[in-house]
Amino acid sequence: MTNRHWAAALAAHWGIEAELTRLDGEYDLNFLARTADGAGYIVKAMRPGCPEELVDLQVKAFEHVVNAAPDLPCPRVIRSSDGAAMLSIADERGAERLVWVINELPGRCYAKAAPKSAALIHEVGAVLGRMGKALADFQHSGLERDFKWNLMQASWIADELDCITDPARGSLLEEISAKFSDLLPALTQLPAQAIHNDANDYNIIVAGNLSEPRRVSGLIDLGDMCNAPRVCDLAIAAAYIVLDHPEPEAALAALVAGYHAANPLTPAEVDMVWPLLRMRLAVSVVNSTLMSAENPDDPYVTISQAPAWRFLEGHDLNSKLVNARLRAACGLPVVDGADRVLAWLDAERGNFAPLMGTDLSETPMGSLSVENSTWPLNPFDMPLAEAARVGEEYGSGIWLGYYNEPRLIYTAPAFRKGRWKASNRRTVHLGVDGFAPAGAPLYAPLAGEVFIVENRAHHLDYGGTIILRHETPAGDSFYTLYGHLDPECCNRLKPGDTVERGEAFCRLGDPTQNGGWAPHVHFQLAMTTDGIEADWPGVGDPDEMYLWHAICPNPAALMNLPDEKTCYRPADKGEILNARRAHFGENLRLTYSDPVMLLRGWKHHLFDEWGRPYLDAYNNVPHVGHAHPRIQAVAADQLKRMNSNTRYLHPAQVAFAEKVLSKLPDPFEVCFFVNSGTEANELALRLARAHTGAKGMVTPDHGYHGNTTGVIDISAYKFNAQGGIGQSDWVELVEVADDYRGSFKRDDPDRAQKFADLVDPAIARLKDKGHGLAGFIAETFPSVGGQIIPPKGYLPAVYEKIRAAGGVCIADEVQTGLGRLGDYYFGFEHQGALPDIVVMGKPIGNGHPLGVLVTTRAIAESFAKGPEFFSTFGGSTLSCRIGKEVLDIVDDEGLQENARAMGARLMAGLLQLEEKHASVGDVRGMGLFLGVELIRDDGSEATEVCSYIKNRMRDHRILIGSEGPKDNILKIRPPLTIDAEDVEMIVATLDLILNEIAAS
Ligand code: PMP
Repeated sequence: MTNRHWAAALAAHWGIEAELTRLDGEYDLNFLARTADGAGYIVKAMRPGCPEELVDLQVKAFEHVVNAAPDLPCPRVIRSSDGAAMLSIADERGAERLVWVINELPGRCYAKAAPKSAALIHEVGAVLGRMGKALADFQHSGLERDFKWNLMQASWIADELDCITDPARGSLLEEISAKFSDLLPALTQLPAQAIHNDANDYNIIVAGNLSEPRRVSGLIDLGDMCNAPRVCDLAIAAAYIVLDHPEPEAALAALVAGYHAANPLTPAEVDMVWPLLRMRLAVSVVNSTLMSAENPDDPYVTISQAPAWRFLEGHDLNSKLVNARLRAACGLPVVDGADRVLAWLDAERGNFAPLMGTDLSETPMGSLSVENSTWPLNPFDMPLAEAARVGEEYGSGIWLGYYNEPRLIYTAPAFRKGRWKASNRRTVHLGVDGFAPAGAPLYAPLAGEVFIVENRAHHLDYGGTIILRHETPAGDSFYTLYGHLDPECCNRLKPGDTVERGEAFCRLGDPTQNGGWAPHVHFQLAMTTDGIEADWPGVGDPDEMYLWHAICPNPAALMNLPDEKTCYRPADKGEILNARRAHFGENLRLTYSDPVMLLRGWKHHLFDEWGRPYLDAYNNVPHVGHAHPRIQAVAADQLKRMNSNTRYLHPAQVAFAEKVLSKLPDPFEVCFFVNSGTEANELALRLARAHTGAKGMVTPDHGYHGNTTGVIDISAYKFNAQGGIGQSDWVELVEVADDYRGSFKRDDPDRAQKFADLVDPAIARLKDKGHGLAGFIAETFPSVGGQIIPPKGYLPAVYEKIRAAGGVCIADEVQTGLGRLGDYYFGFEHQGALPDIVVMGKPIGNGHPLGVLVTTRAIAESFAKGPEFFSTFGGSTLSCRIGKEVLDIVDDEGLQENARAMGARLMAGLLQLEEKHASVGDVRGMGLFLGVELIRDDGSEATEVCSYIKNRMRDHRILIGSEGPKDNILKIRPPLTIDAEDVEMIVATLDLILNEIAAS
């Protein structure tokens, strides 16, 4: 009824014919009006008695903003047919209401948008900043308002704190309120202007879908505008942006940086954001507590407080460090005077006393970076025995370690920043190291006062440590830190002591004194101790370098060295990407819209150029784990001896063959060693033809067997792909035995036989064409086809038909063999089938190029009637040693059993996700060969969702793949070493990302 009344008014006065839907509104009636041609408007019928000035303020402000910044995303006021911005119209009860209309903006509110990326938040800041700029000269009598949401008047809560009954919460709010009072005089000094004053997460509109980045499409609702300093506007937006954000400090930094880029702030304003943000949240919780006292039965009031309390109670951040962070994010001096200190240090470069008693300009640099160094062997564990030897490759003389260098040597839990092994980790060195023999004296580069002297005796800590405070001639202070010292300094020096320029004030400790490290000094500069006090981080998170570079700049000047000498430059991803494009063809593809560069690995983790860890849940080549020490050892050992081919005898050849054959049933007697799965499949085709004298092959659709001319012909995944060479005459395809999406579904008990029967006409066609039947080849469990487990009994039924027609049965076990399936060593065991030829590939070399074909004596004999078989590298001594070692490791480390146990765990977690999320259509697989099929509401293949998840998993540091004819199946195939913690990470992260999809 109401809708029809206002629809009629809209038609009569604005000439807009539309259907109205009621929207939420605290006091006023709001409607979405949708016209037949899809245009949208918001109709606002204000509460009876609403002062005209309030609507006039909003109309004029919108019109002012549109004039001042035409491309700013904010709504336009739609005037009535006779040009009025608002009209007084009686509602159905006869009460007069002011009615006005604006256009609808595309998108959804920020509260419901996911993910809330730093880029999106930066844009929110920028839009708010531009709006602030546009409103700077807007005047209106309605702006001088006394009301509870004017942050300048927030002190009202001080008198209401009694309503907070929890004493801890009460004192928290008292503290926030007191800090606000301290700030108020300075705040009042700032110029006031018209501000939006309510950029909460329902007033920011965000457009974009899964396949395009989110962008801000609107800043709406000027109903709370008032005059106040612009920083209040920013702090109010910030108070919503941080709530329940997984990285609130980064989110806050992005918002403030975005605002600053559009509407530059002063350092003093930046310092006000944090206390004002907290005060705004305090106002919120006090206000809603008071309201709940008025409406004790309304549970919503308490629920809506929860995020604010969670933030206030859970993020007792160091305000000085927050200020430093926000200043750094804006490119402002991190503390007042930091820019002057840096200029002075630069000017004095060359005049400081030599830290190590000698001119360092020719001293060599030694890199301990992720890229250049293999310290430590296990990037998750640095034993003391290794720490004491770090850098020994650079000799025992003086050498320097880089500033800004990402290193994997910092493995203690204190360096990890999140819950998982693949969580952010502090890796980037914030000082310069001076390596020299233990006992070497250090000389103060300039005079200073001892700020801290102590012995940090924990393993892998600093041992003896000194921090000096210095002052420039202009009176600006800064600090230097010297770590890994002989703790004797603690007996000689005390805080407040003066150290003269050039004074030998301490010396390098040995590993028993300096935390356990090879003797060196860690020399670090800091512009301030605010927020870090005596406990400076010596390494930083690579994603937070904007902050740490500003607080702890390169100390090269103090060593009389140019910054470039001591500053490490990690391999530049952009440069490598460009060079790669220049040197390689376009169909050499990269995964991810933001590709990863991977430089180290360990078990089922990989590390990028900044030392960021990734959980590898995709790569099946490192079957027994990346960088396995036994593989390293066996490869190095063999390369020290010799590496030759199968024309000569070597015990490793038979040892490997015997190991392979021990895993297979009796009829398999003969091995062929080649370089790849492709080559093994090529050879399988030759064997089948030699044995049968026929050419024709039957193979399931969407299969993949390799990249050469011969096997591409039997790989429908390639020959039928866009631009593919098409199907050869001698190849017949049969439907994949996919009982989720295929012709016969899981509810059909005869589906295995029905899929197998499809082979009959294929054989008949090959015979009709005169090719005869050489054989049948299939990935035992189709992988690129979508991680499919054929119904039990499928392969035996197919093999029976193939053999009856004279063909050979080839099982491509490249993906499924060697224990990955947990319950079975090979996939054909699950089917109860016995192939004639088994092909093994990539995992068998754990990264070393190796393929193996195993067959019966009879087939090998047919093939032996032809020319000599020789592969130069296939079966090389090195390959045989590595292949055997891989199979031994699977046995020795119980990796097949681990695949079973972890696979079951992962499957259980994924099945729960299937129950919970509509976009998960099917979860299937066995052991650590798993697929998650993503679907749209109508059950069709959700390619875009799959791509989104793959990229978001990468953002969360998990590598997985996607597969299937429509590329809508997540492929999860980690190295067999994966453990319960990392399984949990996969499931929990996938859950988070599926929630984002549900929200979009
Ligand atoms: N067969 C299957 C089932 C495969 O998955 C692959 C590679 N992904 C191959 C054969 C080809 O192996 P390679 O790349 O080692 O030549």
